Amino acid sequence: MIERKCSCERGVHRAPLEKCIIESGAIQKLPAILKDYKKVYMVCDENTYRVLGSQAEALLKAAGIFSHKHILKGEVLPNAQNIGDVLIHLWDPKSESDIFDYSPQPDFILGVGSGVVNDICRVVSYRLRLPYGIAGTAPSMDGYASAGSPTLFDGTKATIKCTTPKYILADLDIMREASFDMLLSGIGDMFGKYIGILDWELARDYNGDYYCNEIAAEVIAATDKCLENGYGLKDRAAEGIKNIMEGFLVTGLGMAFTGNSRPASGSEHIIAHAWELESVENGQKPNLHGLEVCEGTRIVAEMYKKLYRETDDVHLKSLIEKYLPYFDKVEAFCEKMKMPNVTTDYDTILRGIHRALGLRDRYTVLFYLRDRGLFEEYAESAAKAFLERIQK
Ligand SMILES: [Zn+2]
Ligand SMILES: [Zn+2]
Repeated sequence: MIERKCSCERGVHRAPLEKCIIESGAIQKLPAILKDYKKVYMVCDENTYRVLGSQAEALLKAAGIFSHKHILKGEVLPNAQNIGDVLIHLWDPKSESDIFDYSPQPDFILGVGSGVVNDICRVVSYRLRLPYGIAGTAPSMDGYASAGSPTLFDGTKATIKCTTPKYILADLDIMREASFDMLLSGIGDMFGKYIGILDWELARDYNGDYYCNEIAAEVIAATDKCLENGYGLKDRAAEGIKNIMEGFLVTGLGMAFTGNSRPASGSEHIIAHAWELESVENGQKPNLHGLEVCEGTRIVAEMYKKLYRETDDVHLKSLIEKYLPYFDKVEAFCEKMKMPNVTTDYDTILRGIHRALGLRDRYTVLFYLRDRGLFEEYAESAAKAFLERIQK
């Protein structure tokens, strides 16, 4: 468990994460980290097994603590079926049973992968009270240290609340080989923090929400670092990838520390979530999460910029003013690095913004605008401004 004192009203923050290693060759430390376990059940998909799982398996076998593995097949979604699949294979489904004793269990679940594998293992781990850890394969999304799993069940997508992994291993030698879109998705997810934290400040001042100044400052500092070194992603520089993973850790811990996802997400994530939902409902695979978030960030930034120009509220102006340079830097980065734009149809963009308003009862700039009868106008104007910018 991580524990630290804080100057905010909570006084102290706690998170159940034991250890996080972000470095080249981190995977070699796997046996040492899991030395207290005897039967490690490893979960991968076909791709992550090839990239890192086979290596993890060999290391665990050599240490005598490998139980068995399950490889999820094909395009893996975080749905009830795959969660059930991981559960059924918790022990050999063809093994004999002892009718006087319940099925044996592994004592640790190791997920090898990024978003989906992590989300699935987290749910199974939490439901069965089995500790789990994740060996990451791509710095593509901010959910590594999260305690919630976005899951498809009962015909919709919702976050199942669980707990954080005990261990996170990010081997930079593996991560730098991820596809360029995955790297951009990761940094795009981090850019979302500028809106997330500004929304949080807005909620503090206009809705009386709890706010932690120290955690917010850490998230902004981690995002700044990503922006600073992010141009190096072109050459797959380890430094930029390390910054992204450290940013995910800071925001993940921030969520665990505060007990809510404010440190990681605001209206930009809710809008991205609305687009992802629409894809799922249409039977399509959602776009990379971080790319949607990056787009949500740029659109909400347009809303804030318009508010800054038009509001008479001096306090609001001063709040937004601090973030204007970040918005400009994000735009410059996206232009220079050719950030892929994933949702580019005006009606789809607008539908997502509208849907975001009802998707989550969380005070963000969307609520601020709605309460003042400005929502429609700002949504349309921001969608247009974004499209004009990318079509230039
Ligand atoms: Zn605090
Ligand atoms: Zn995210």
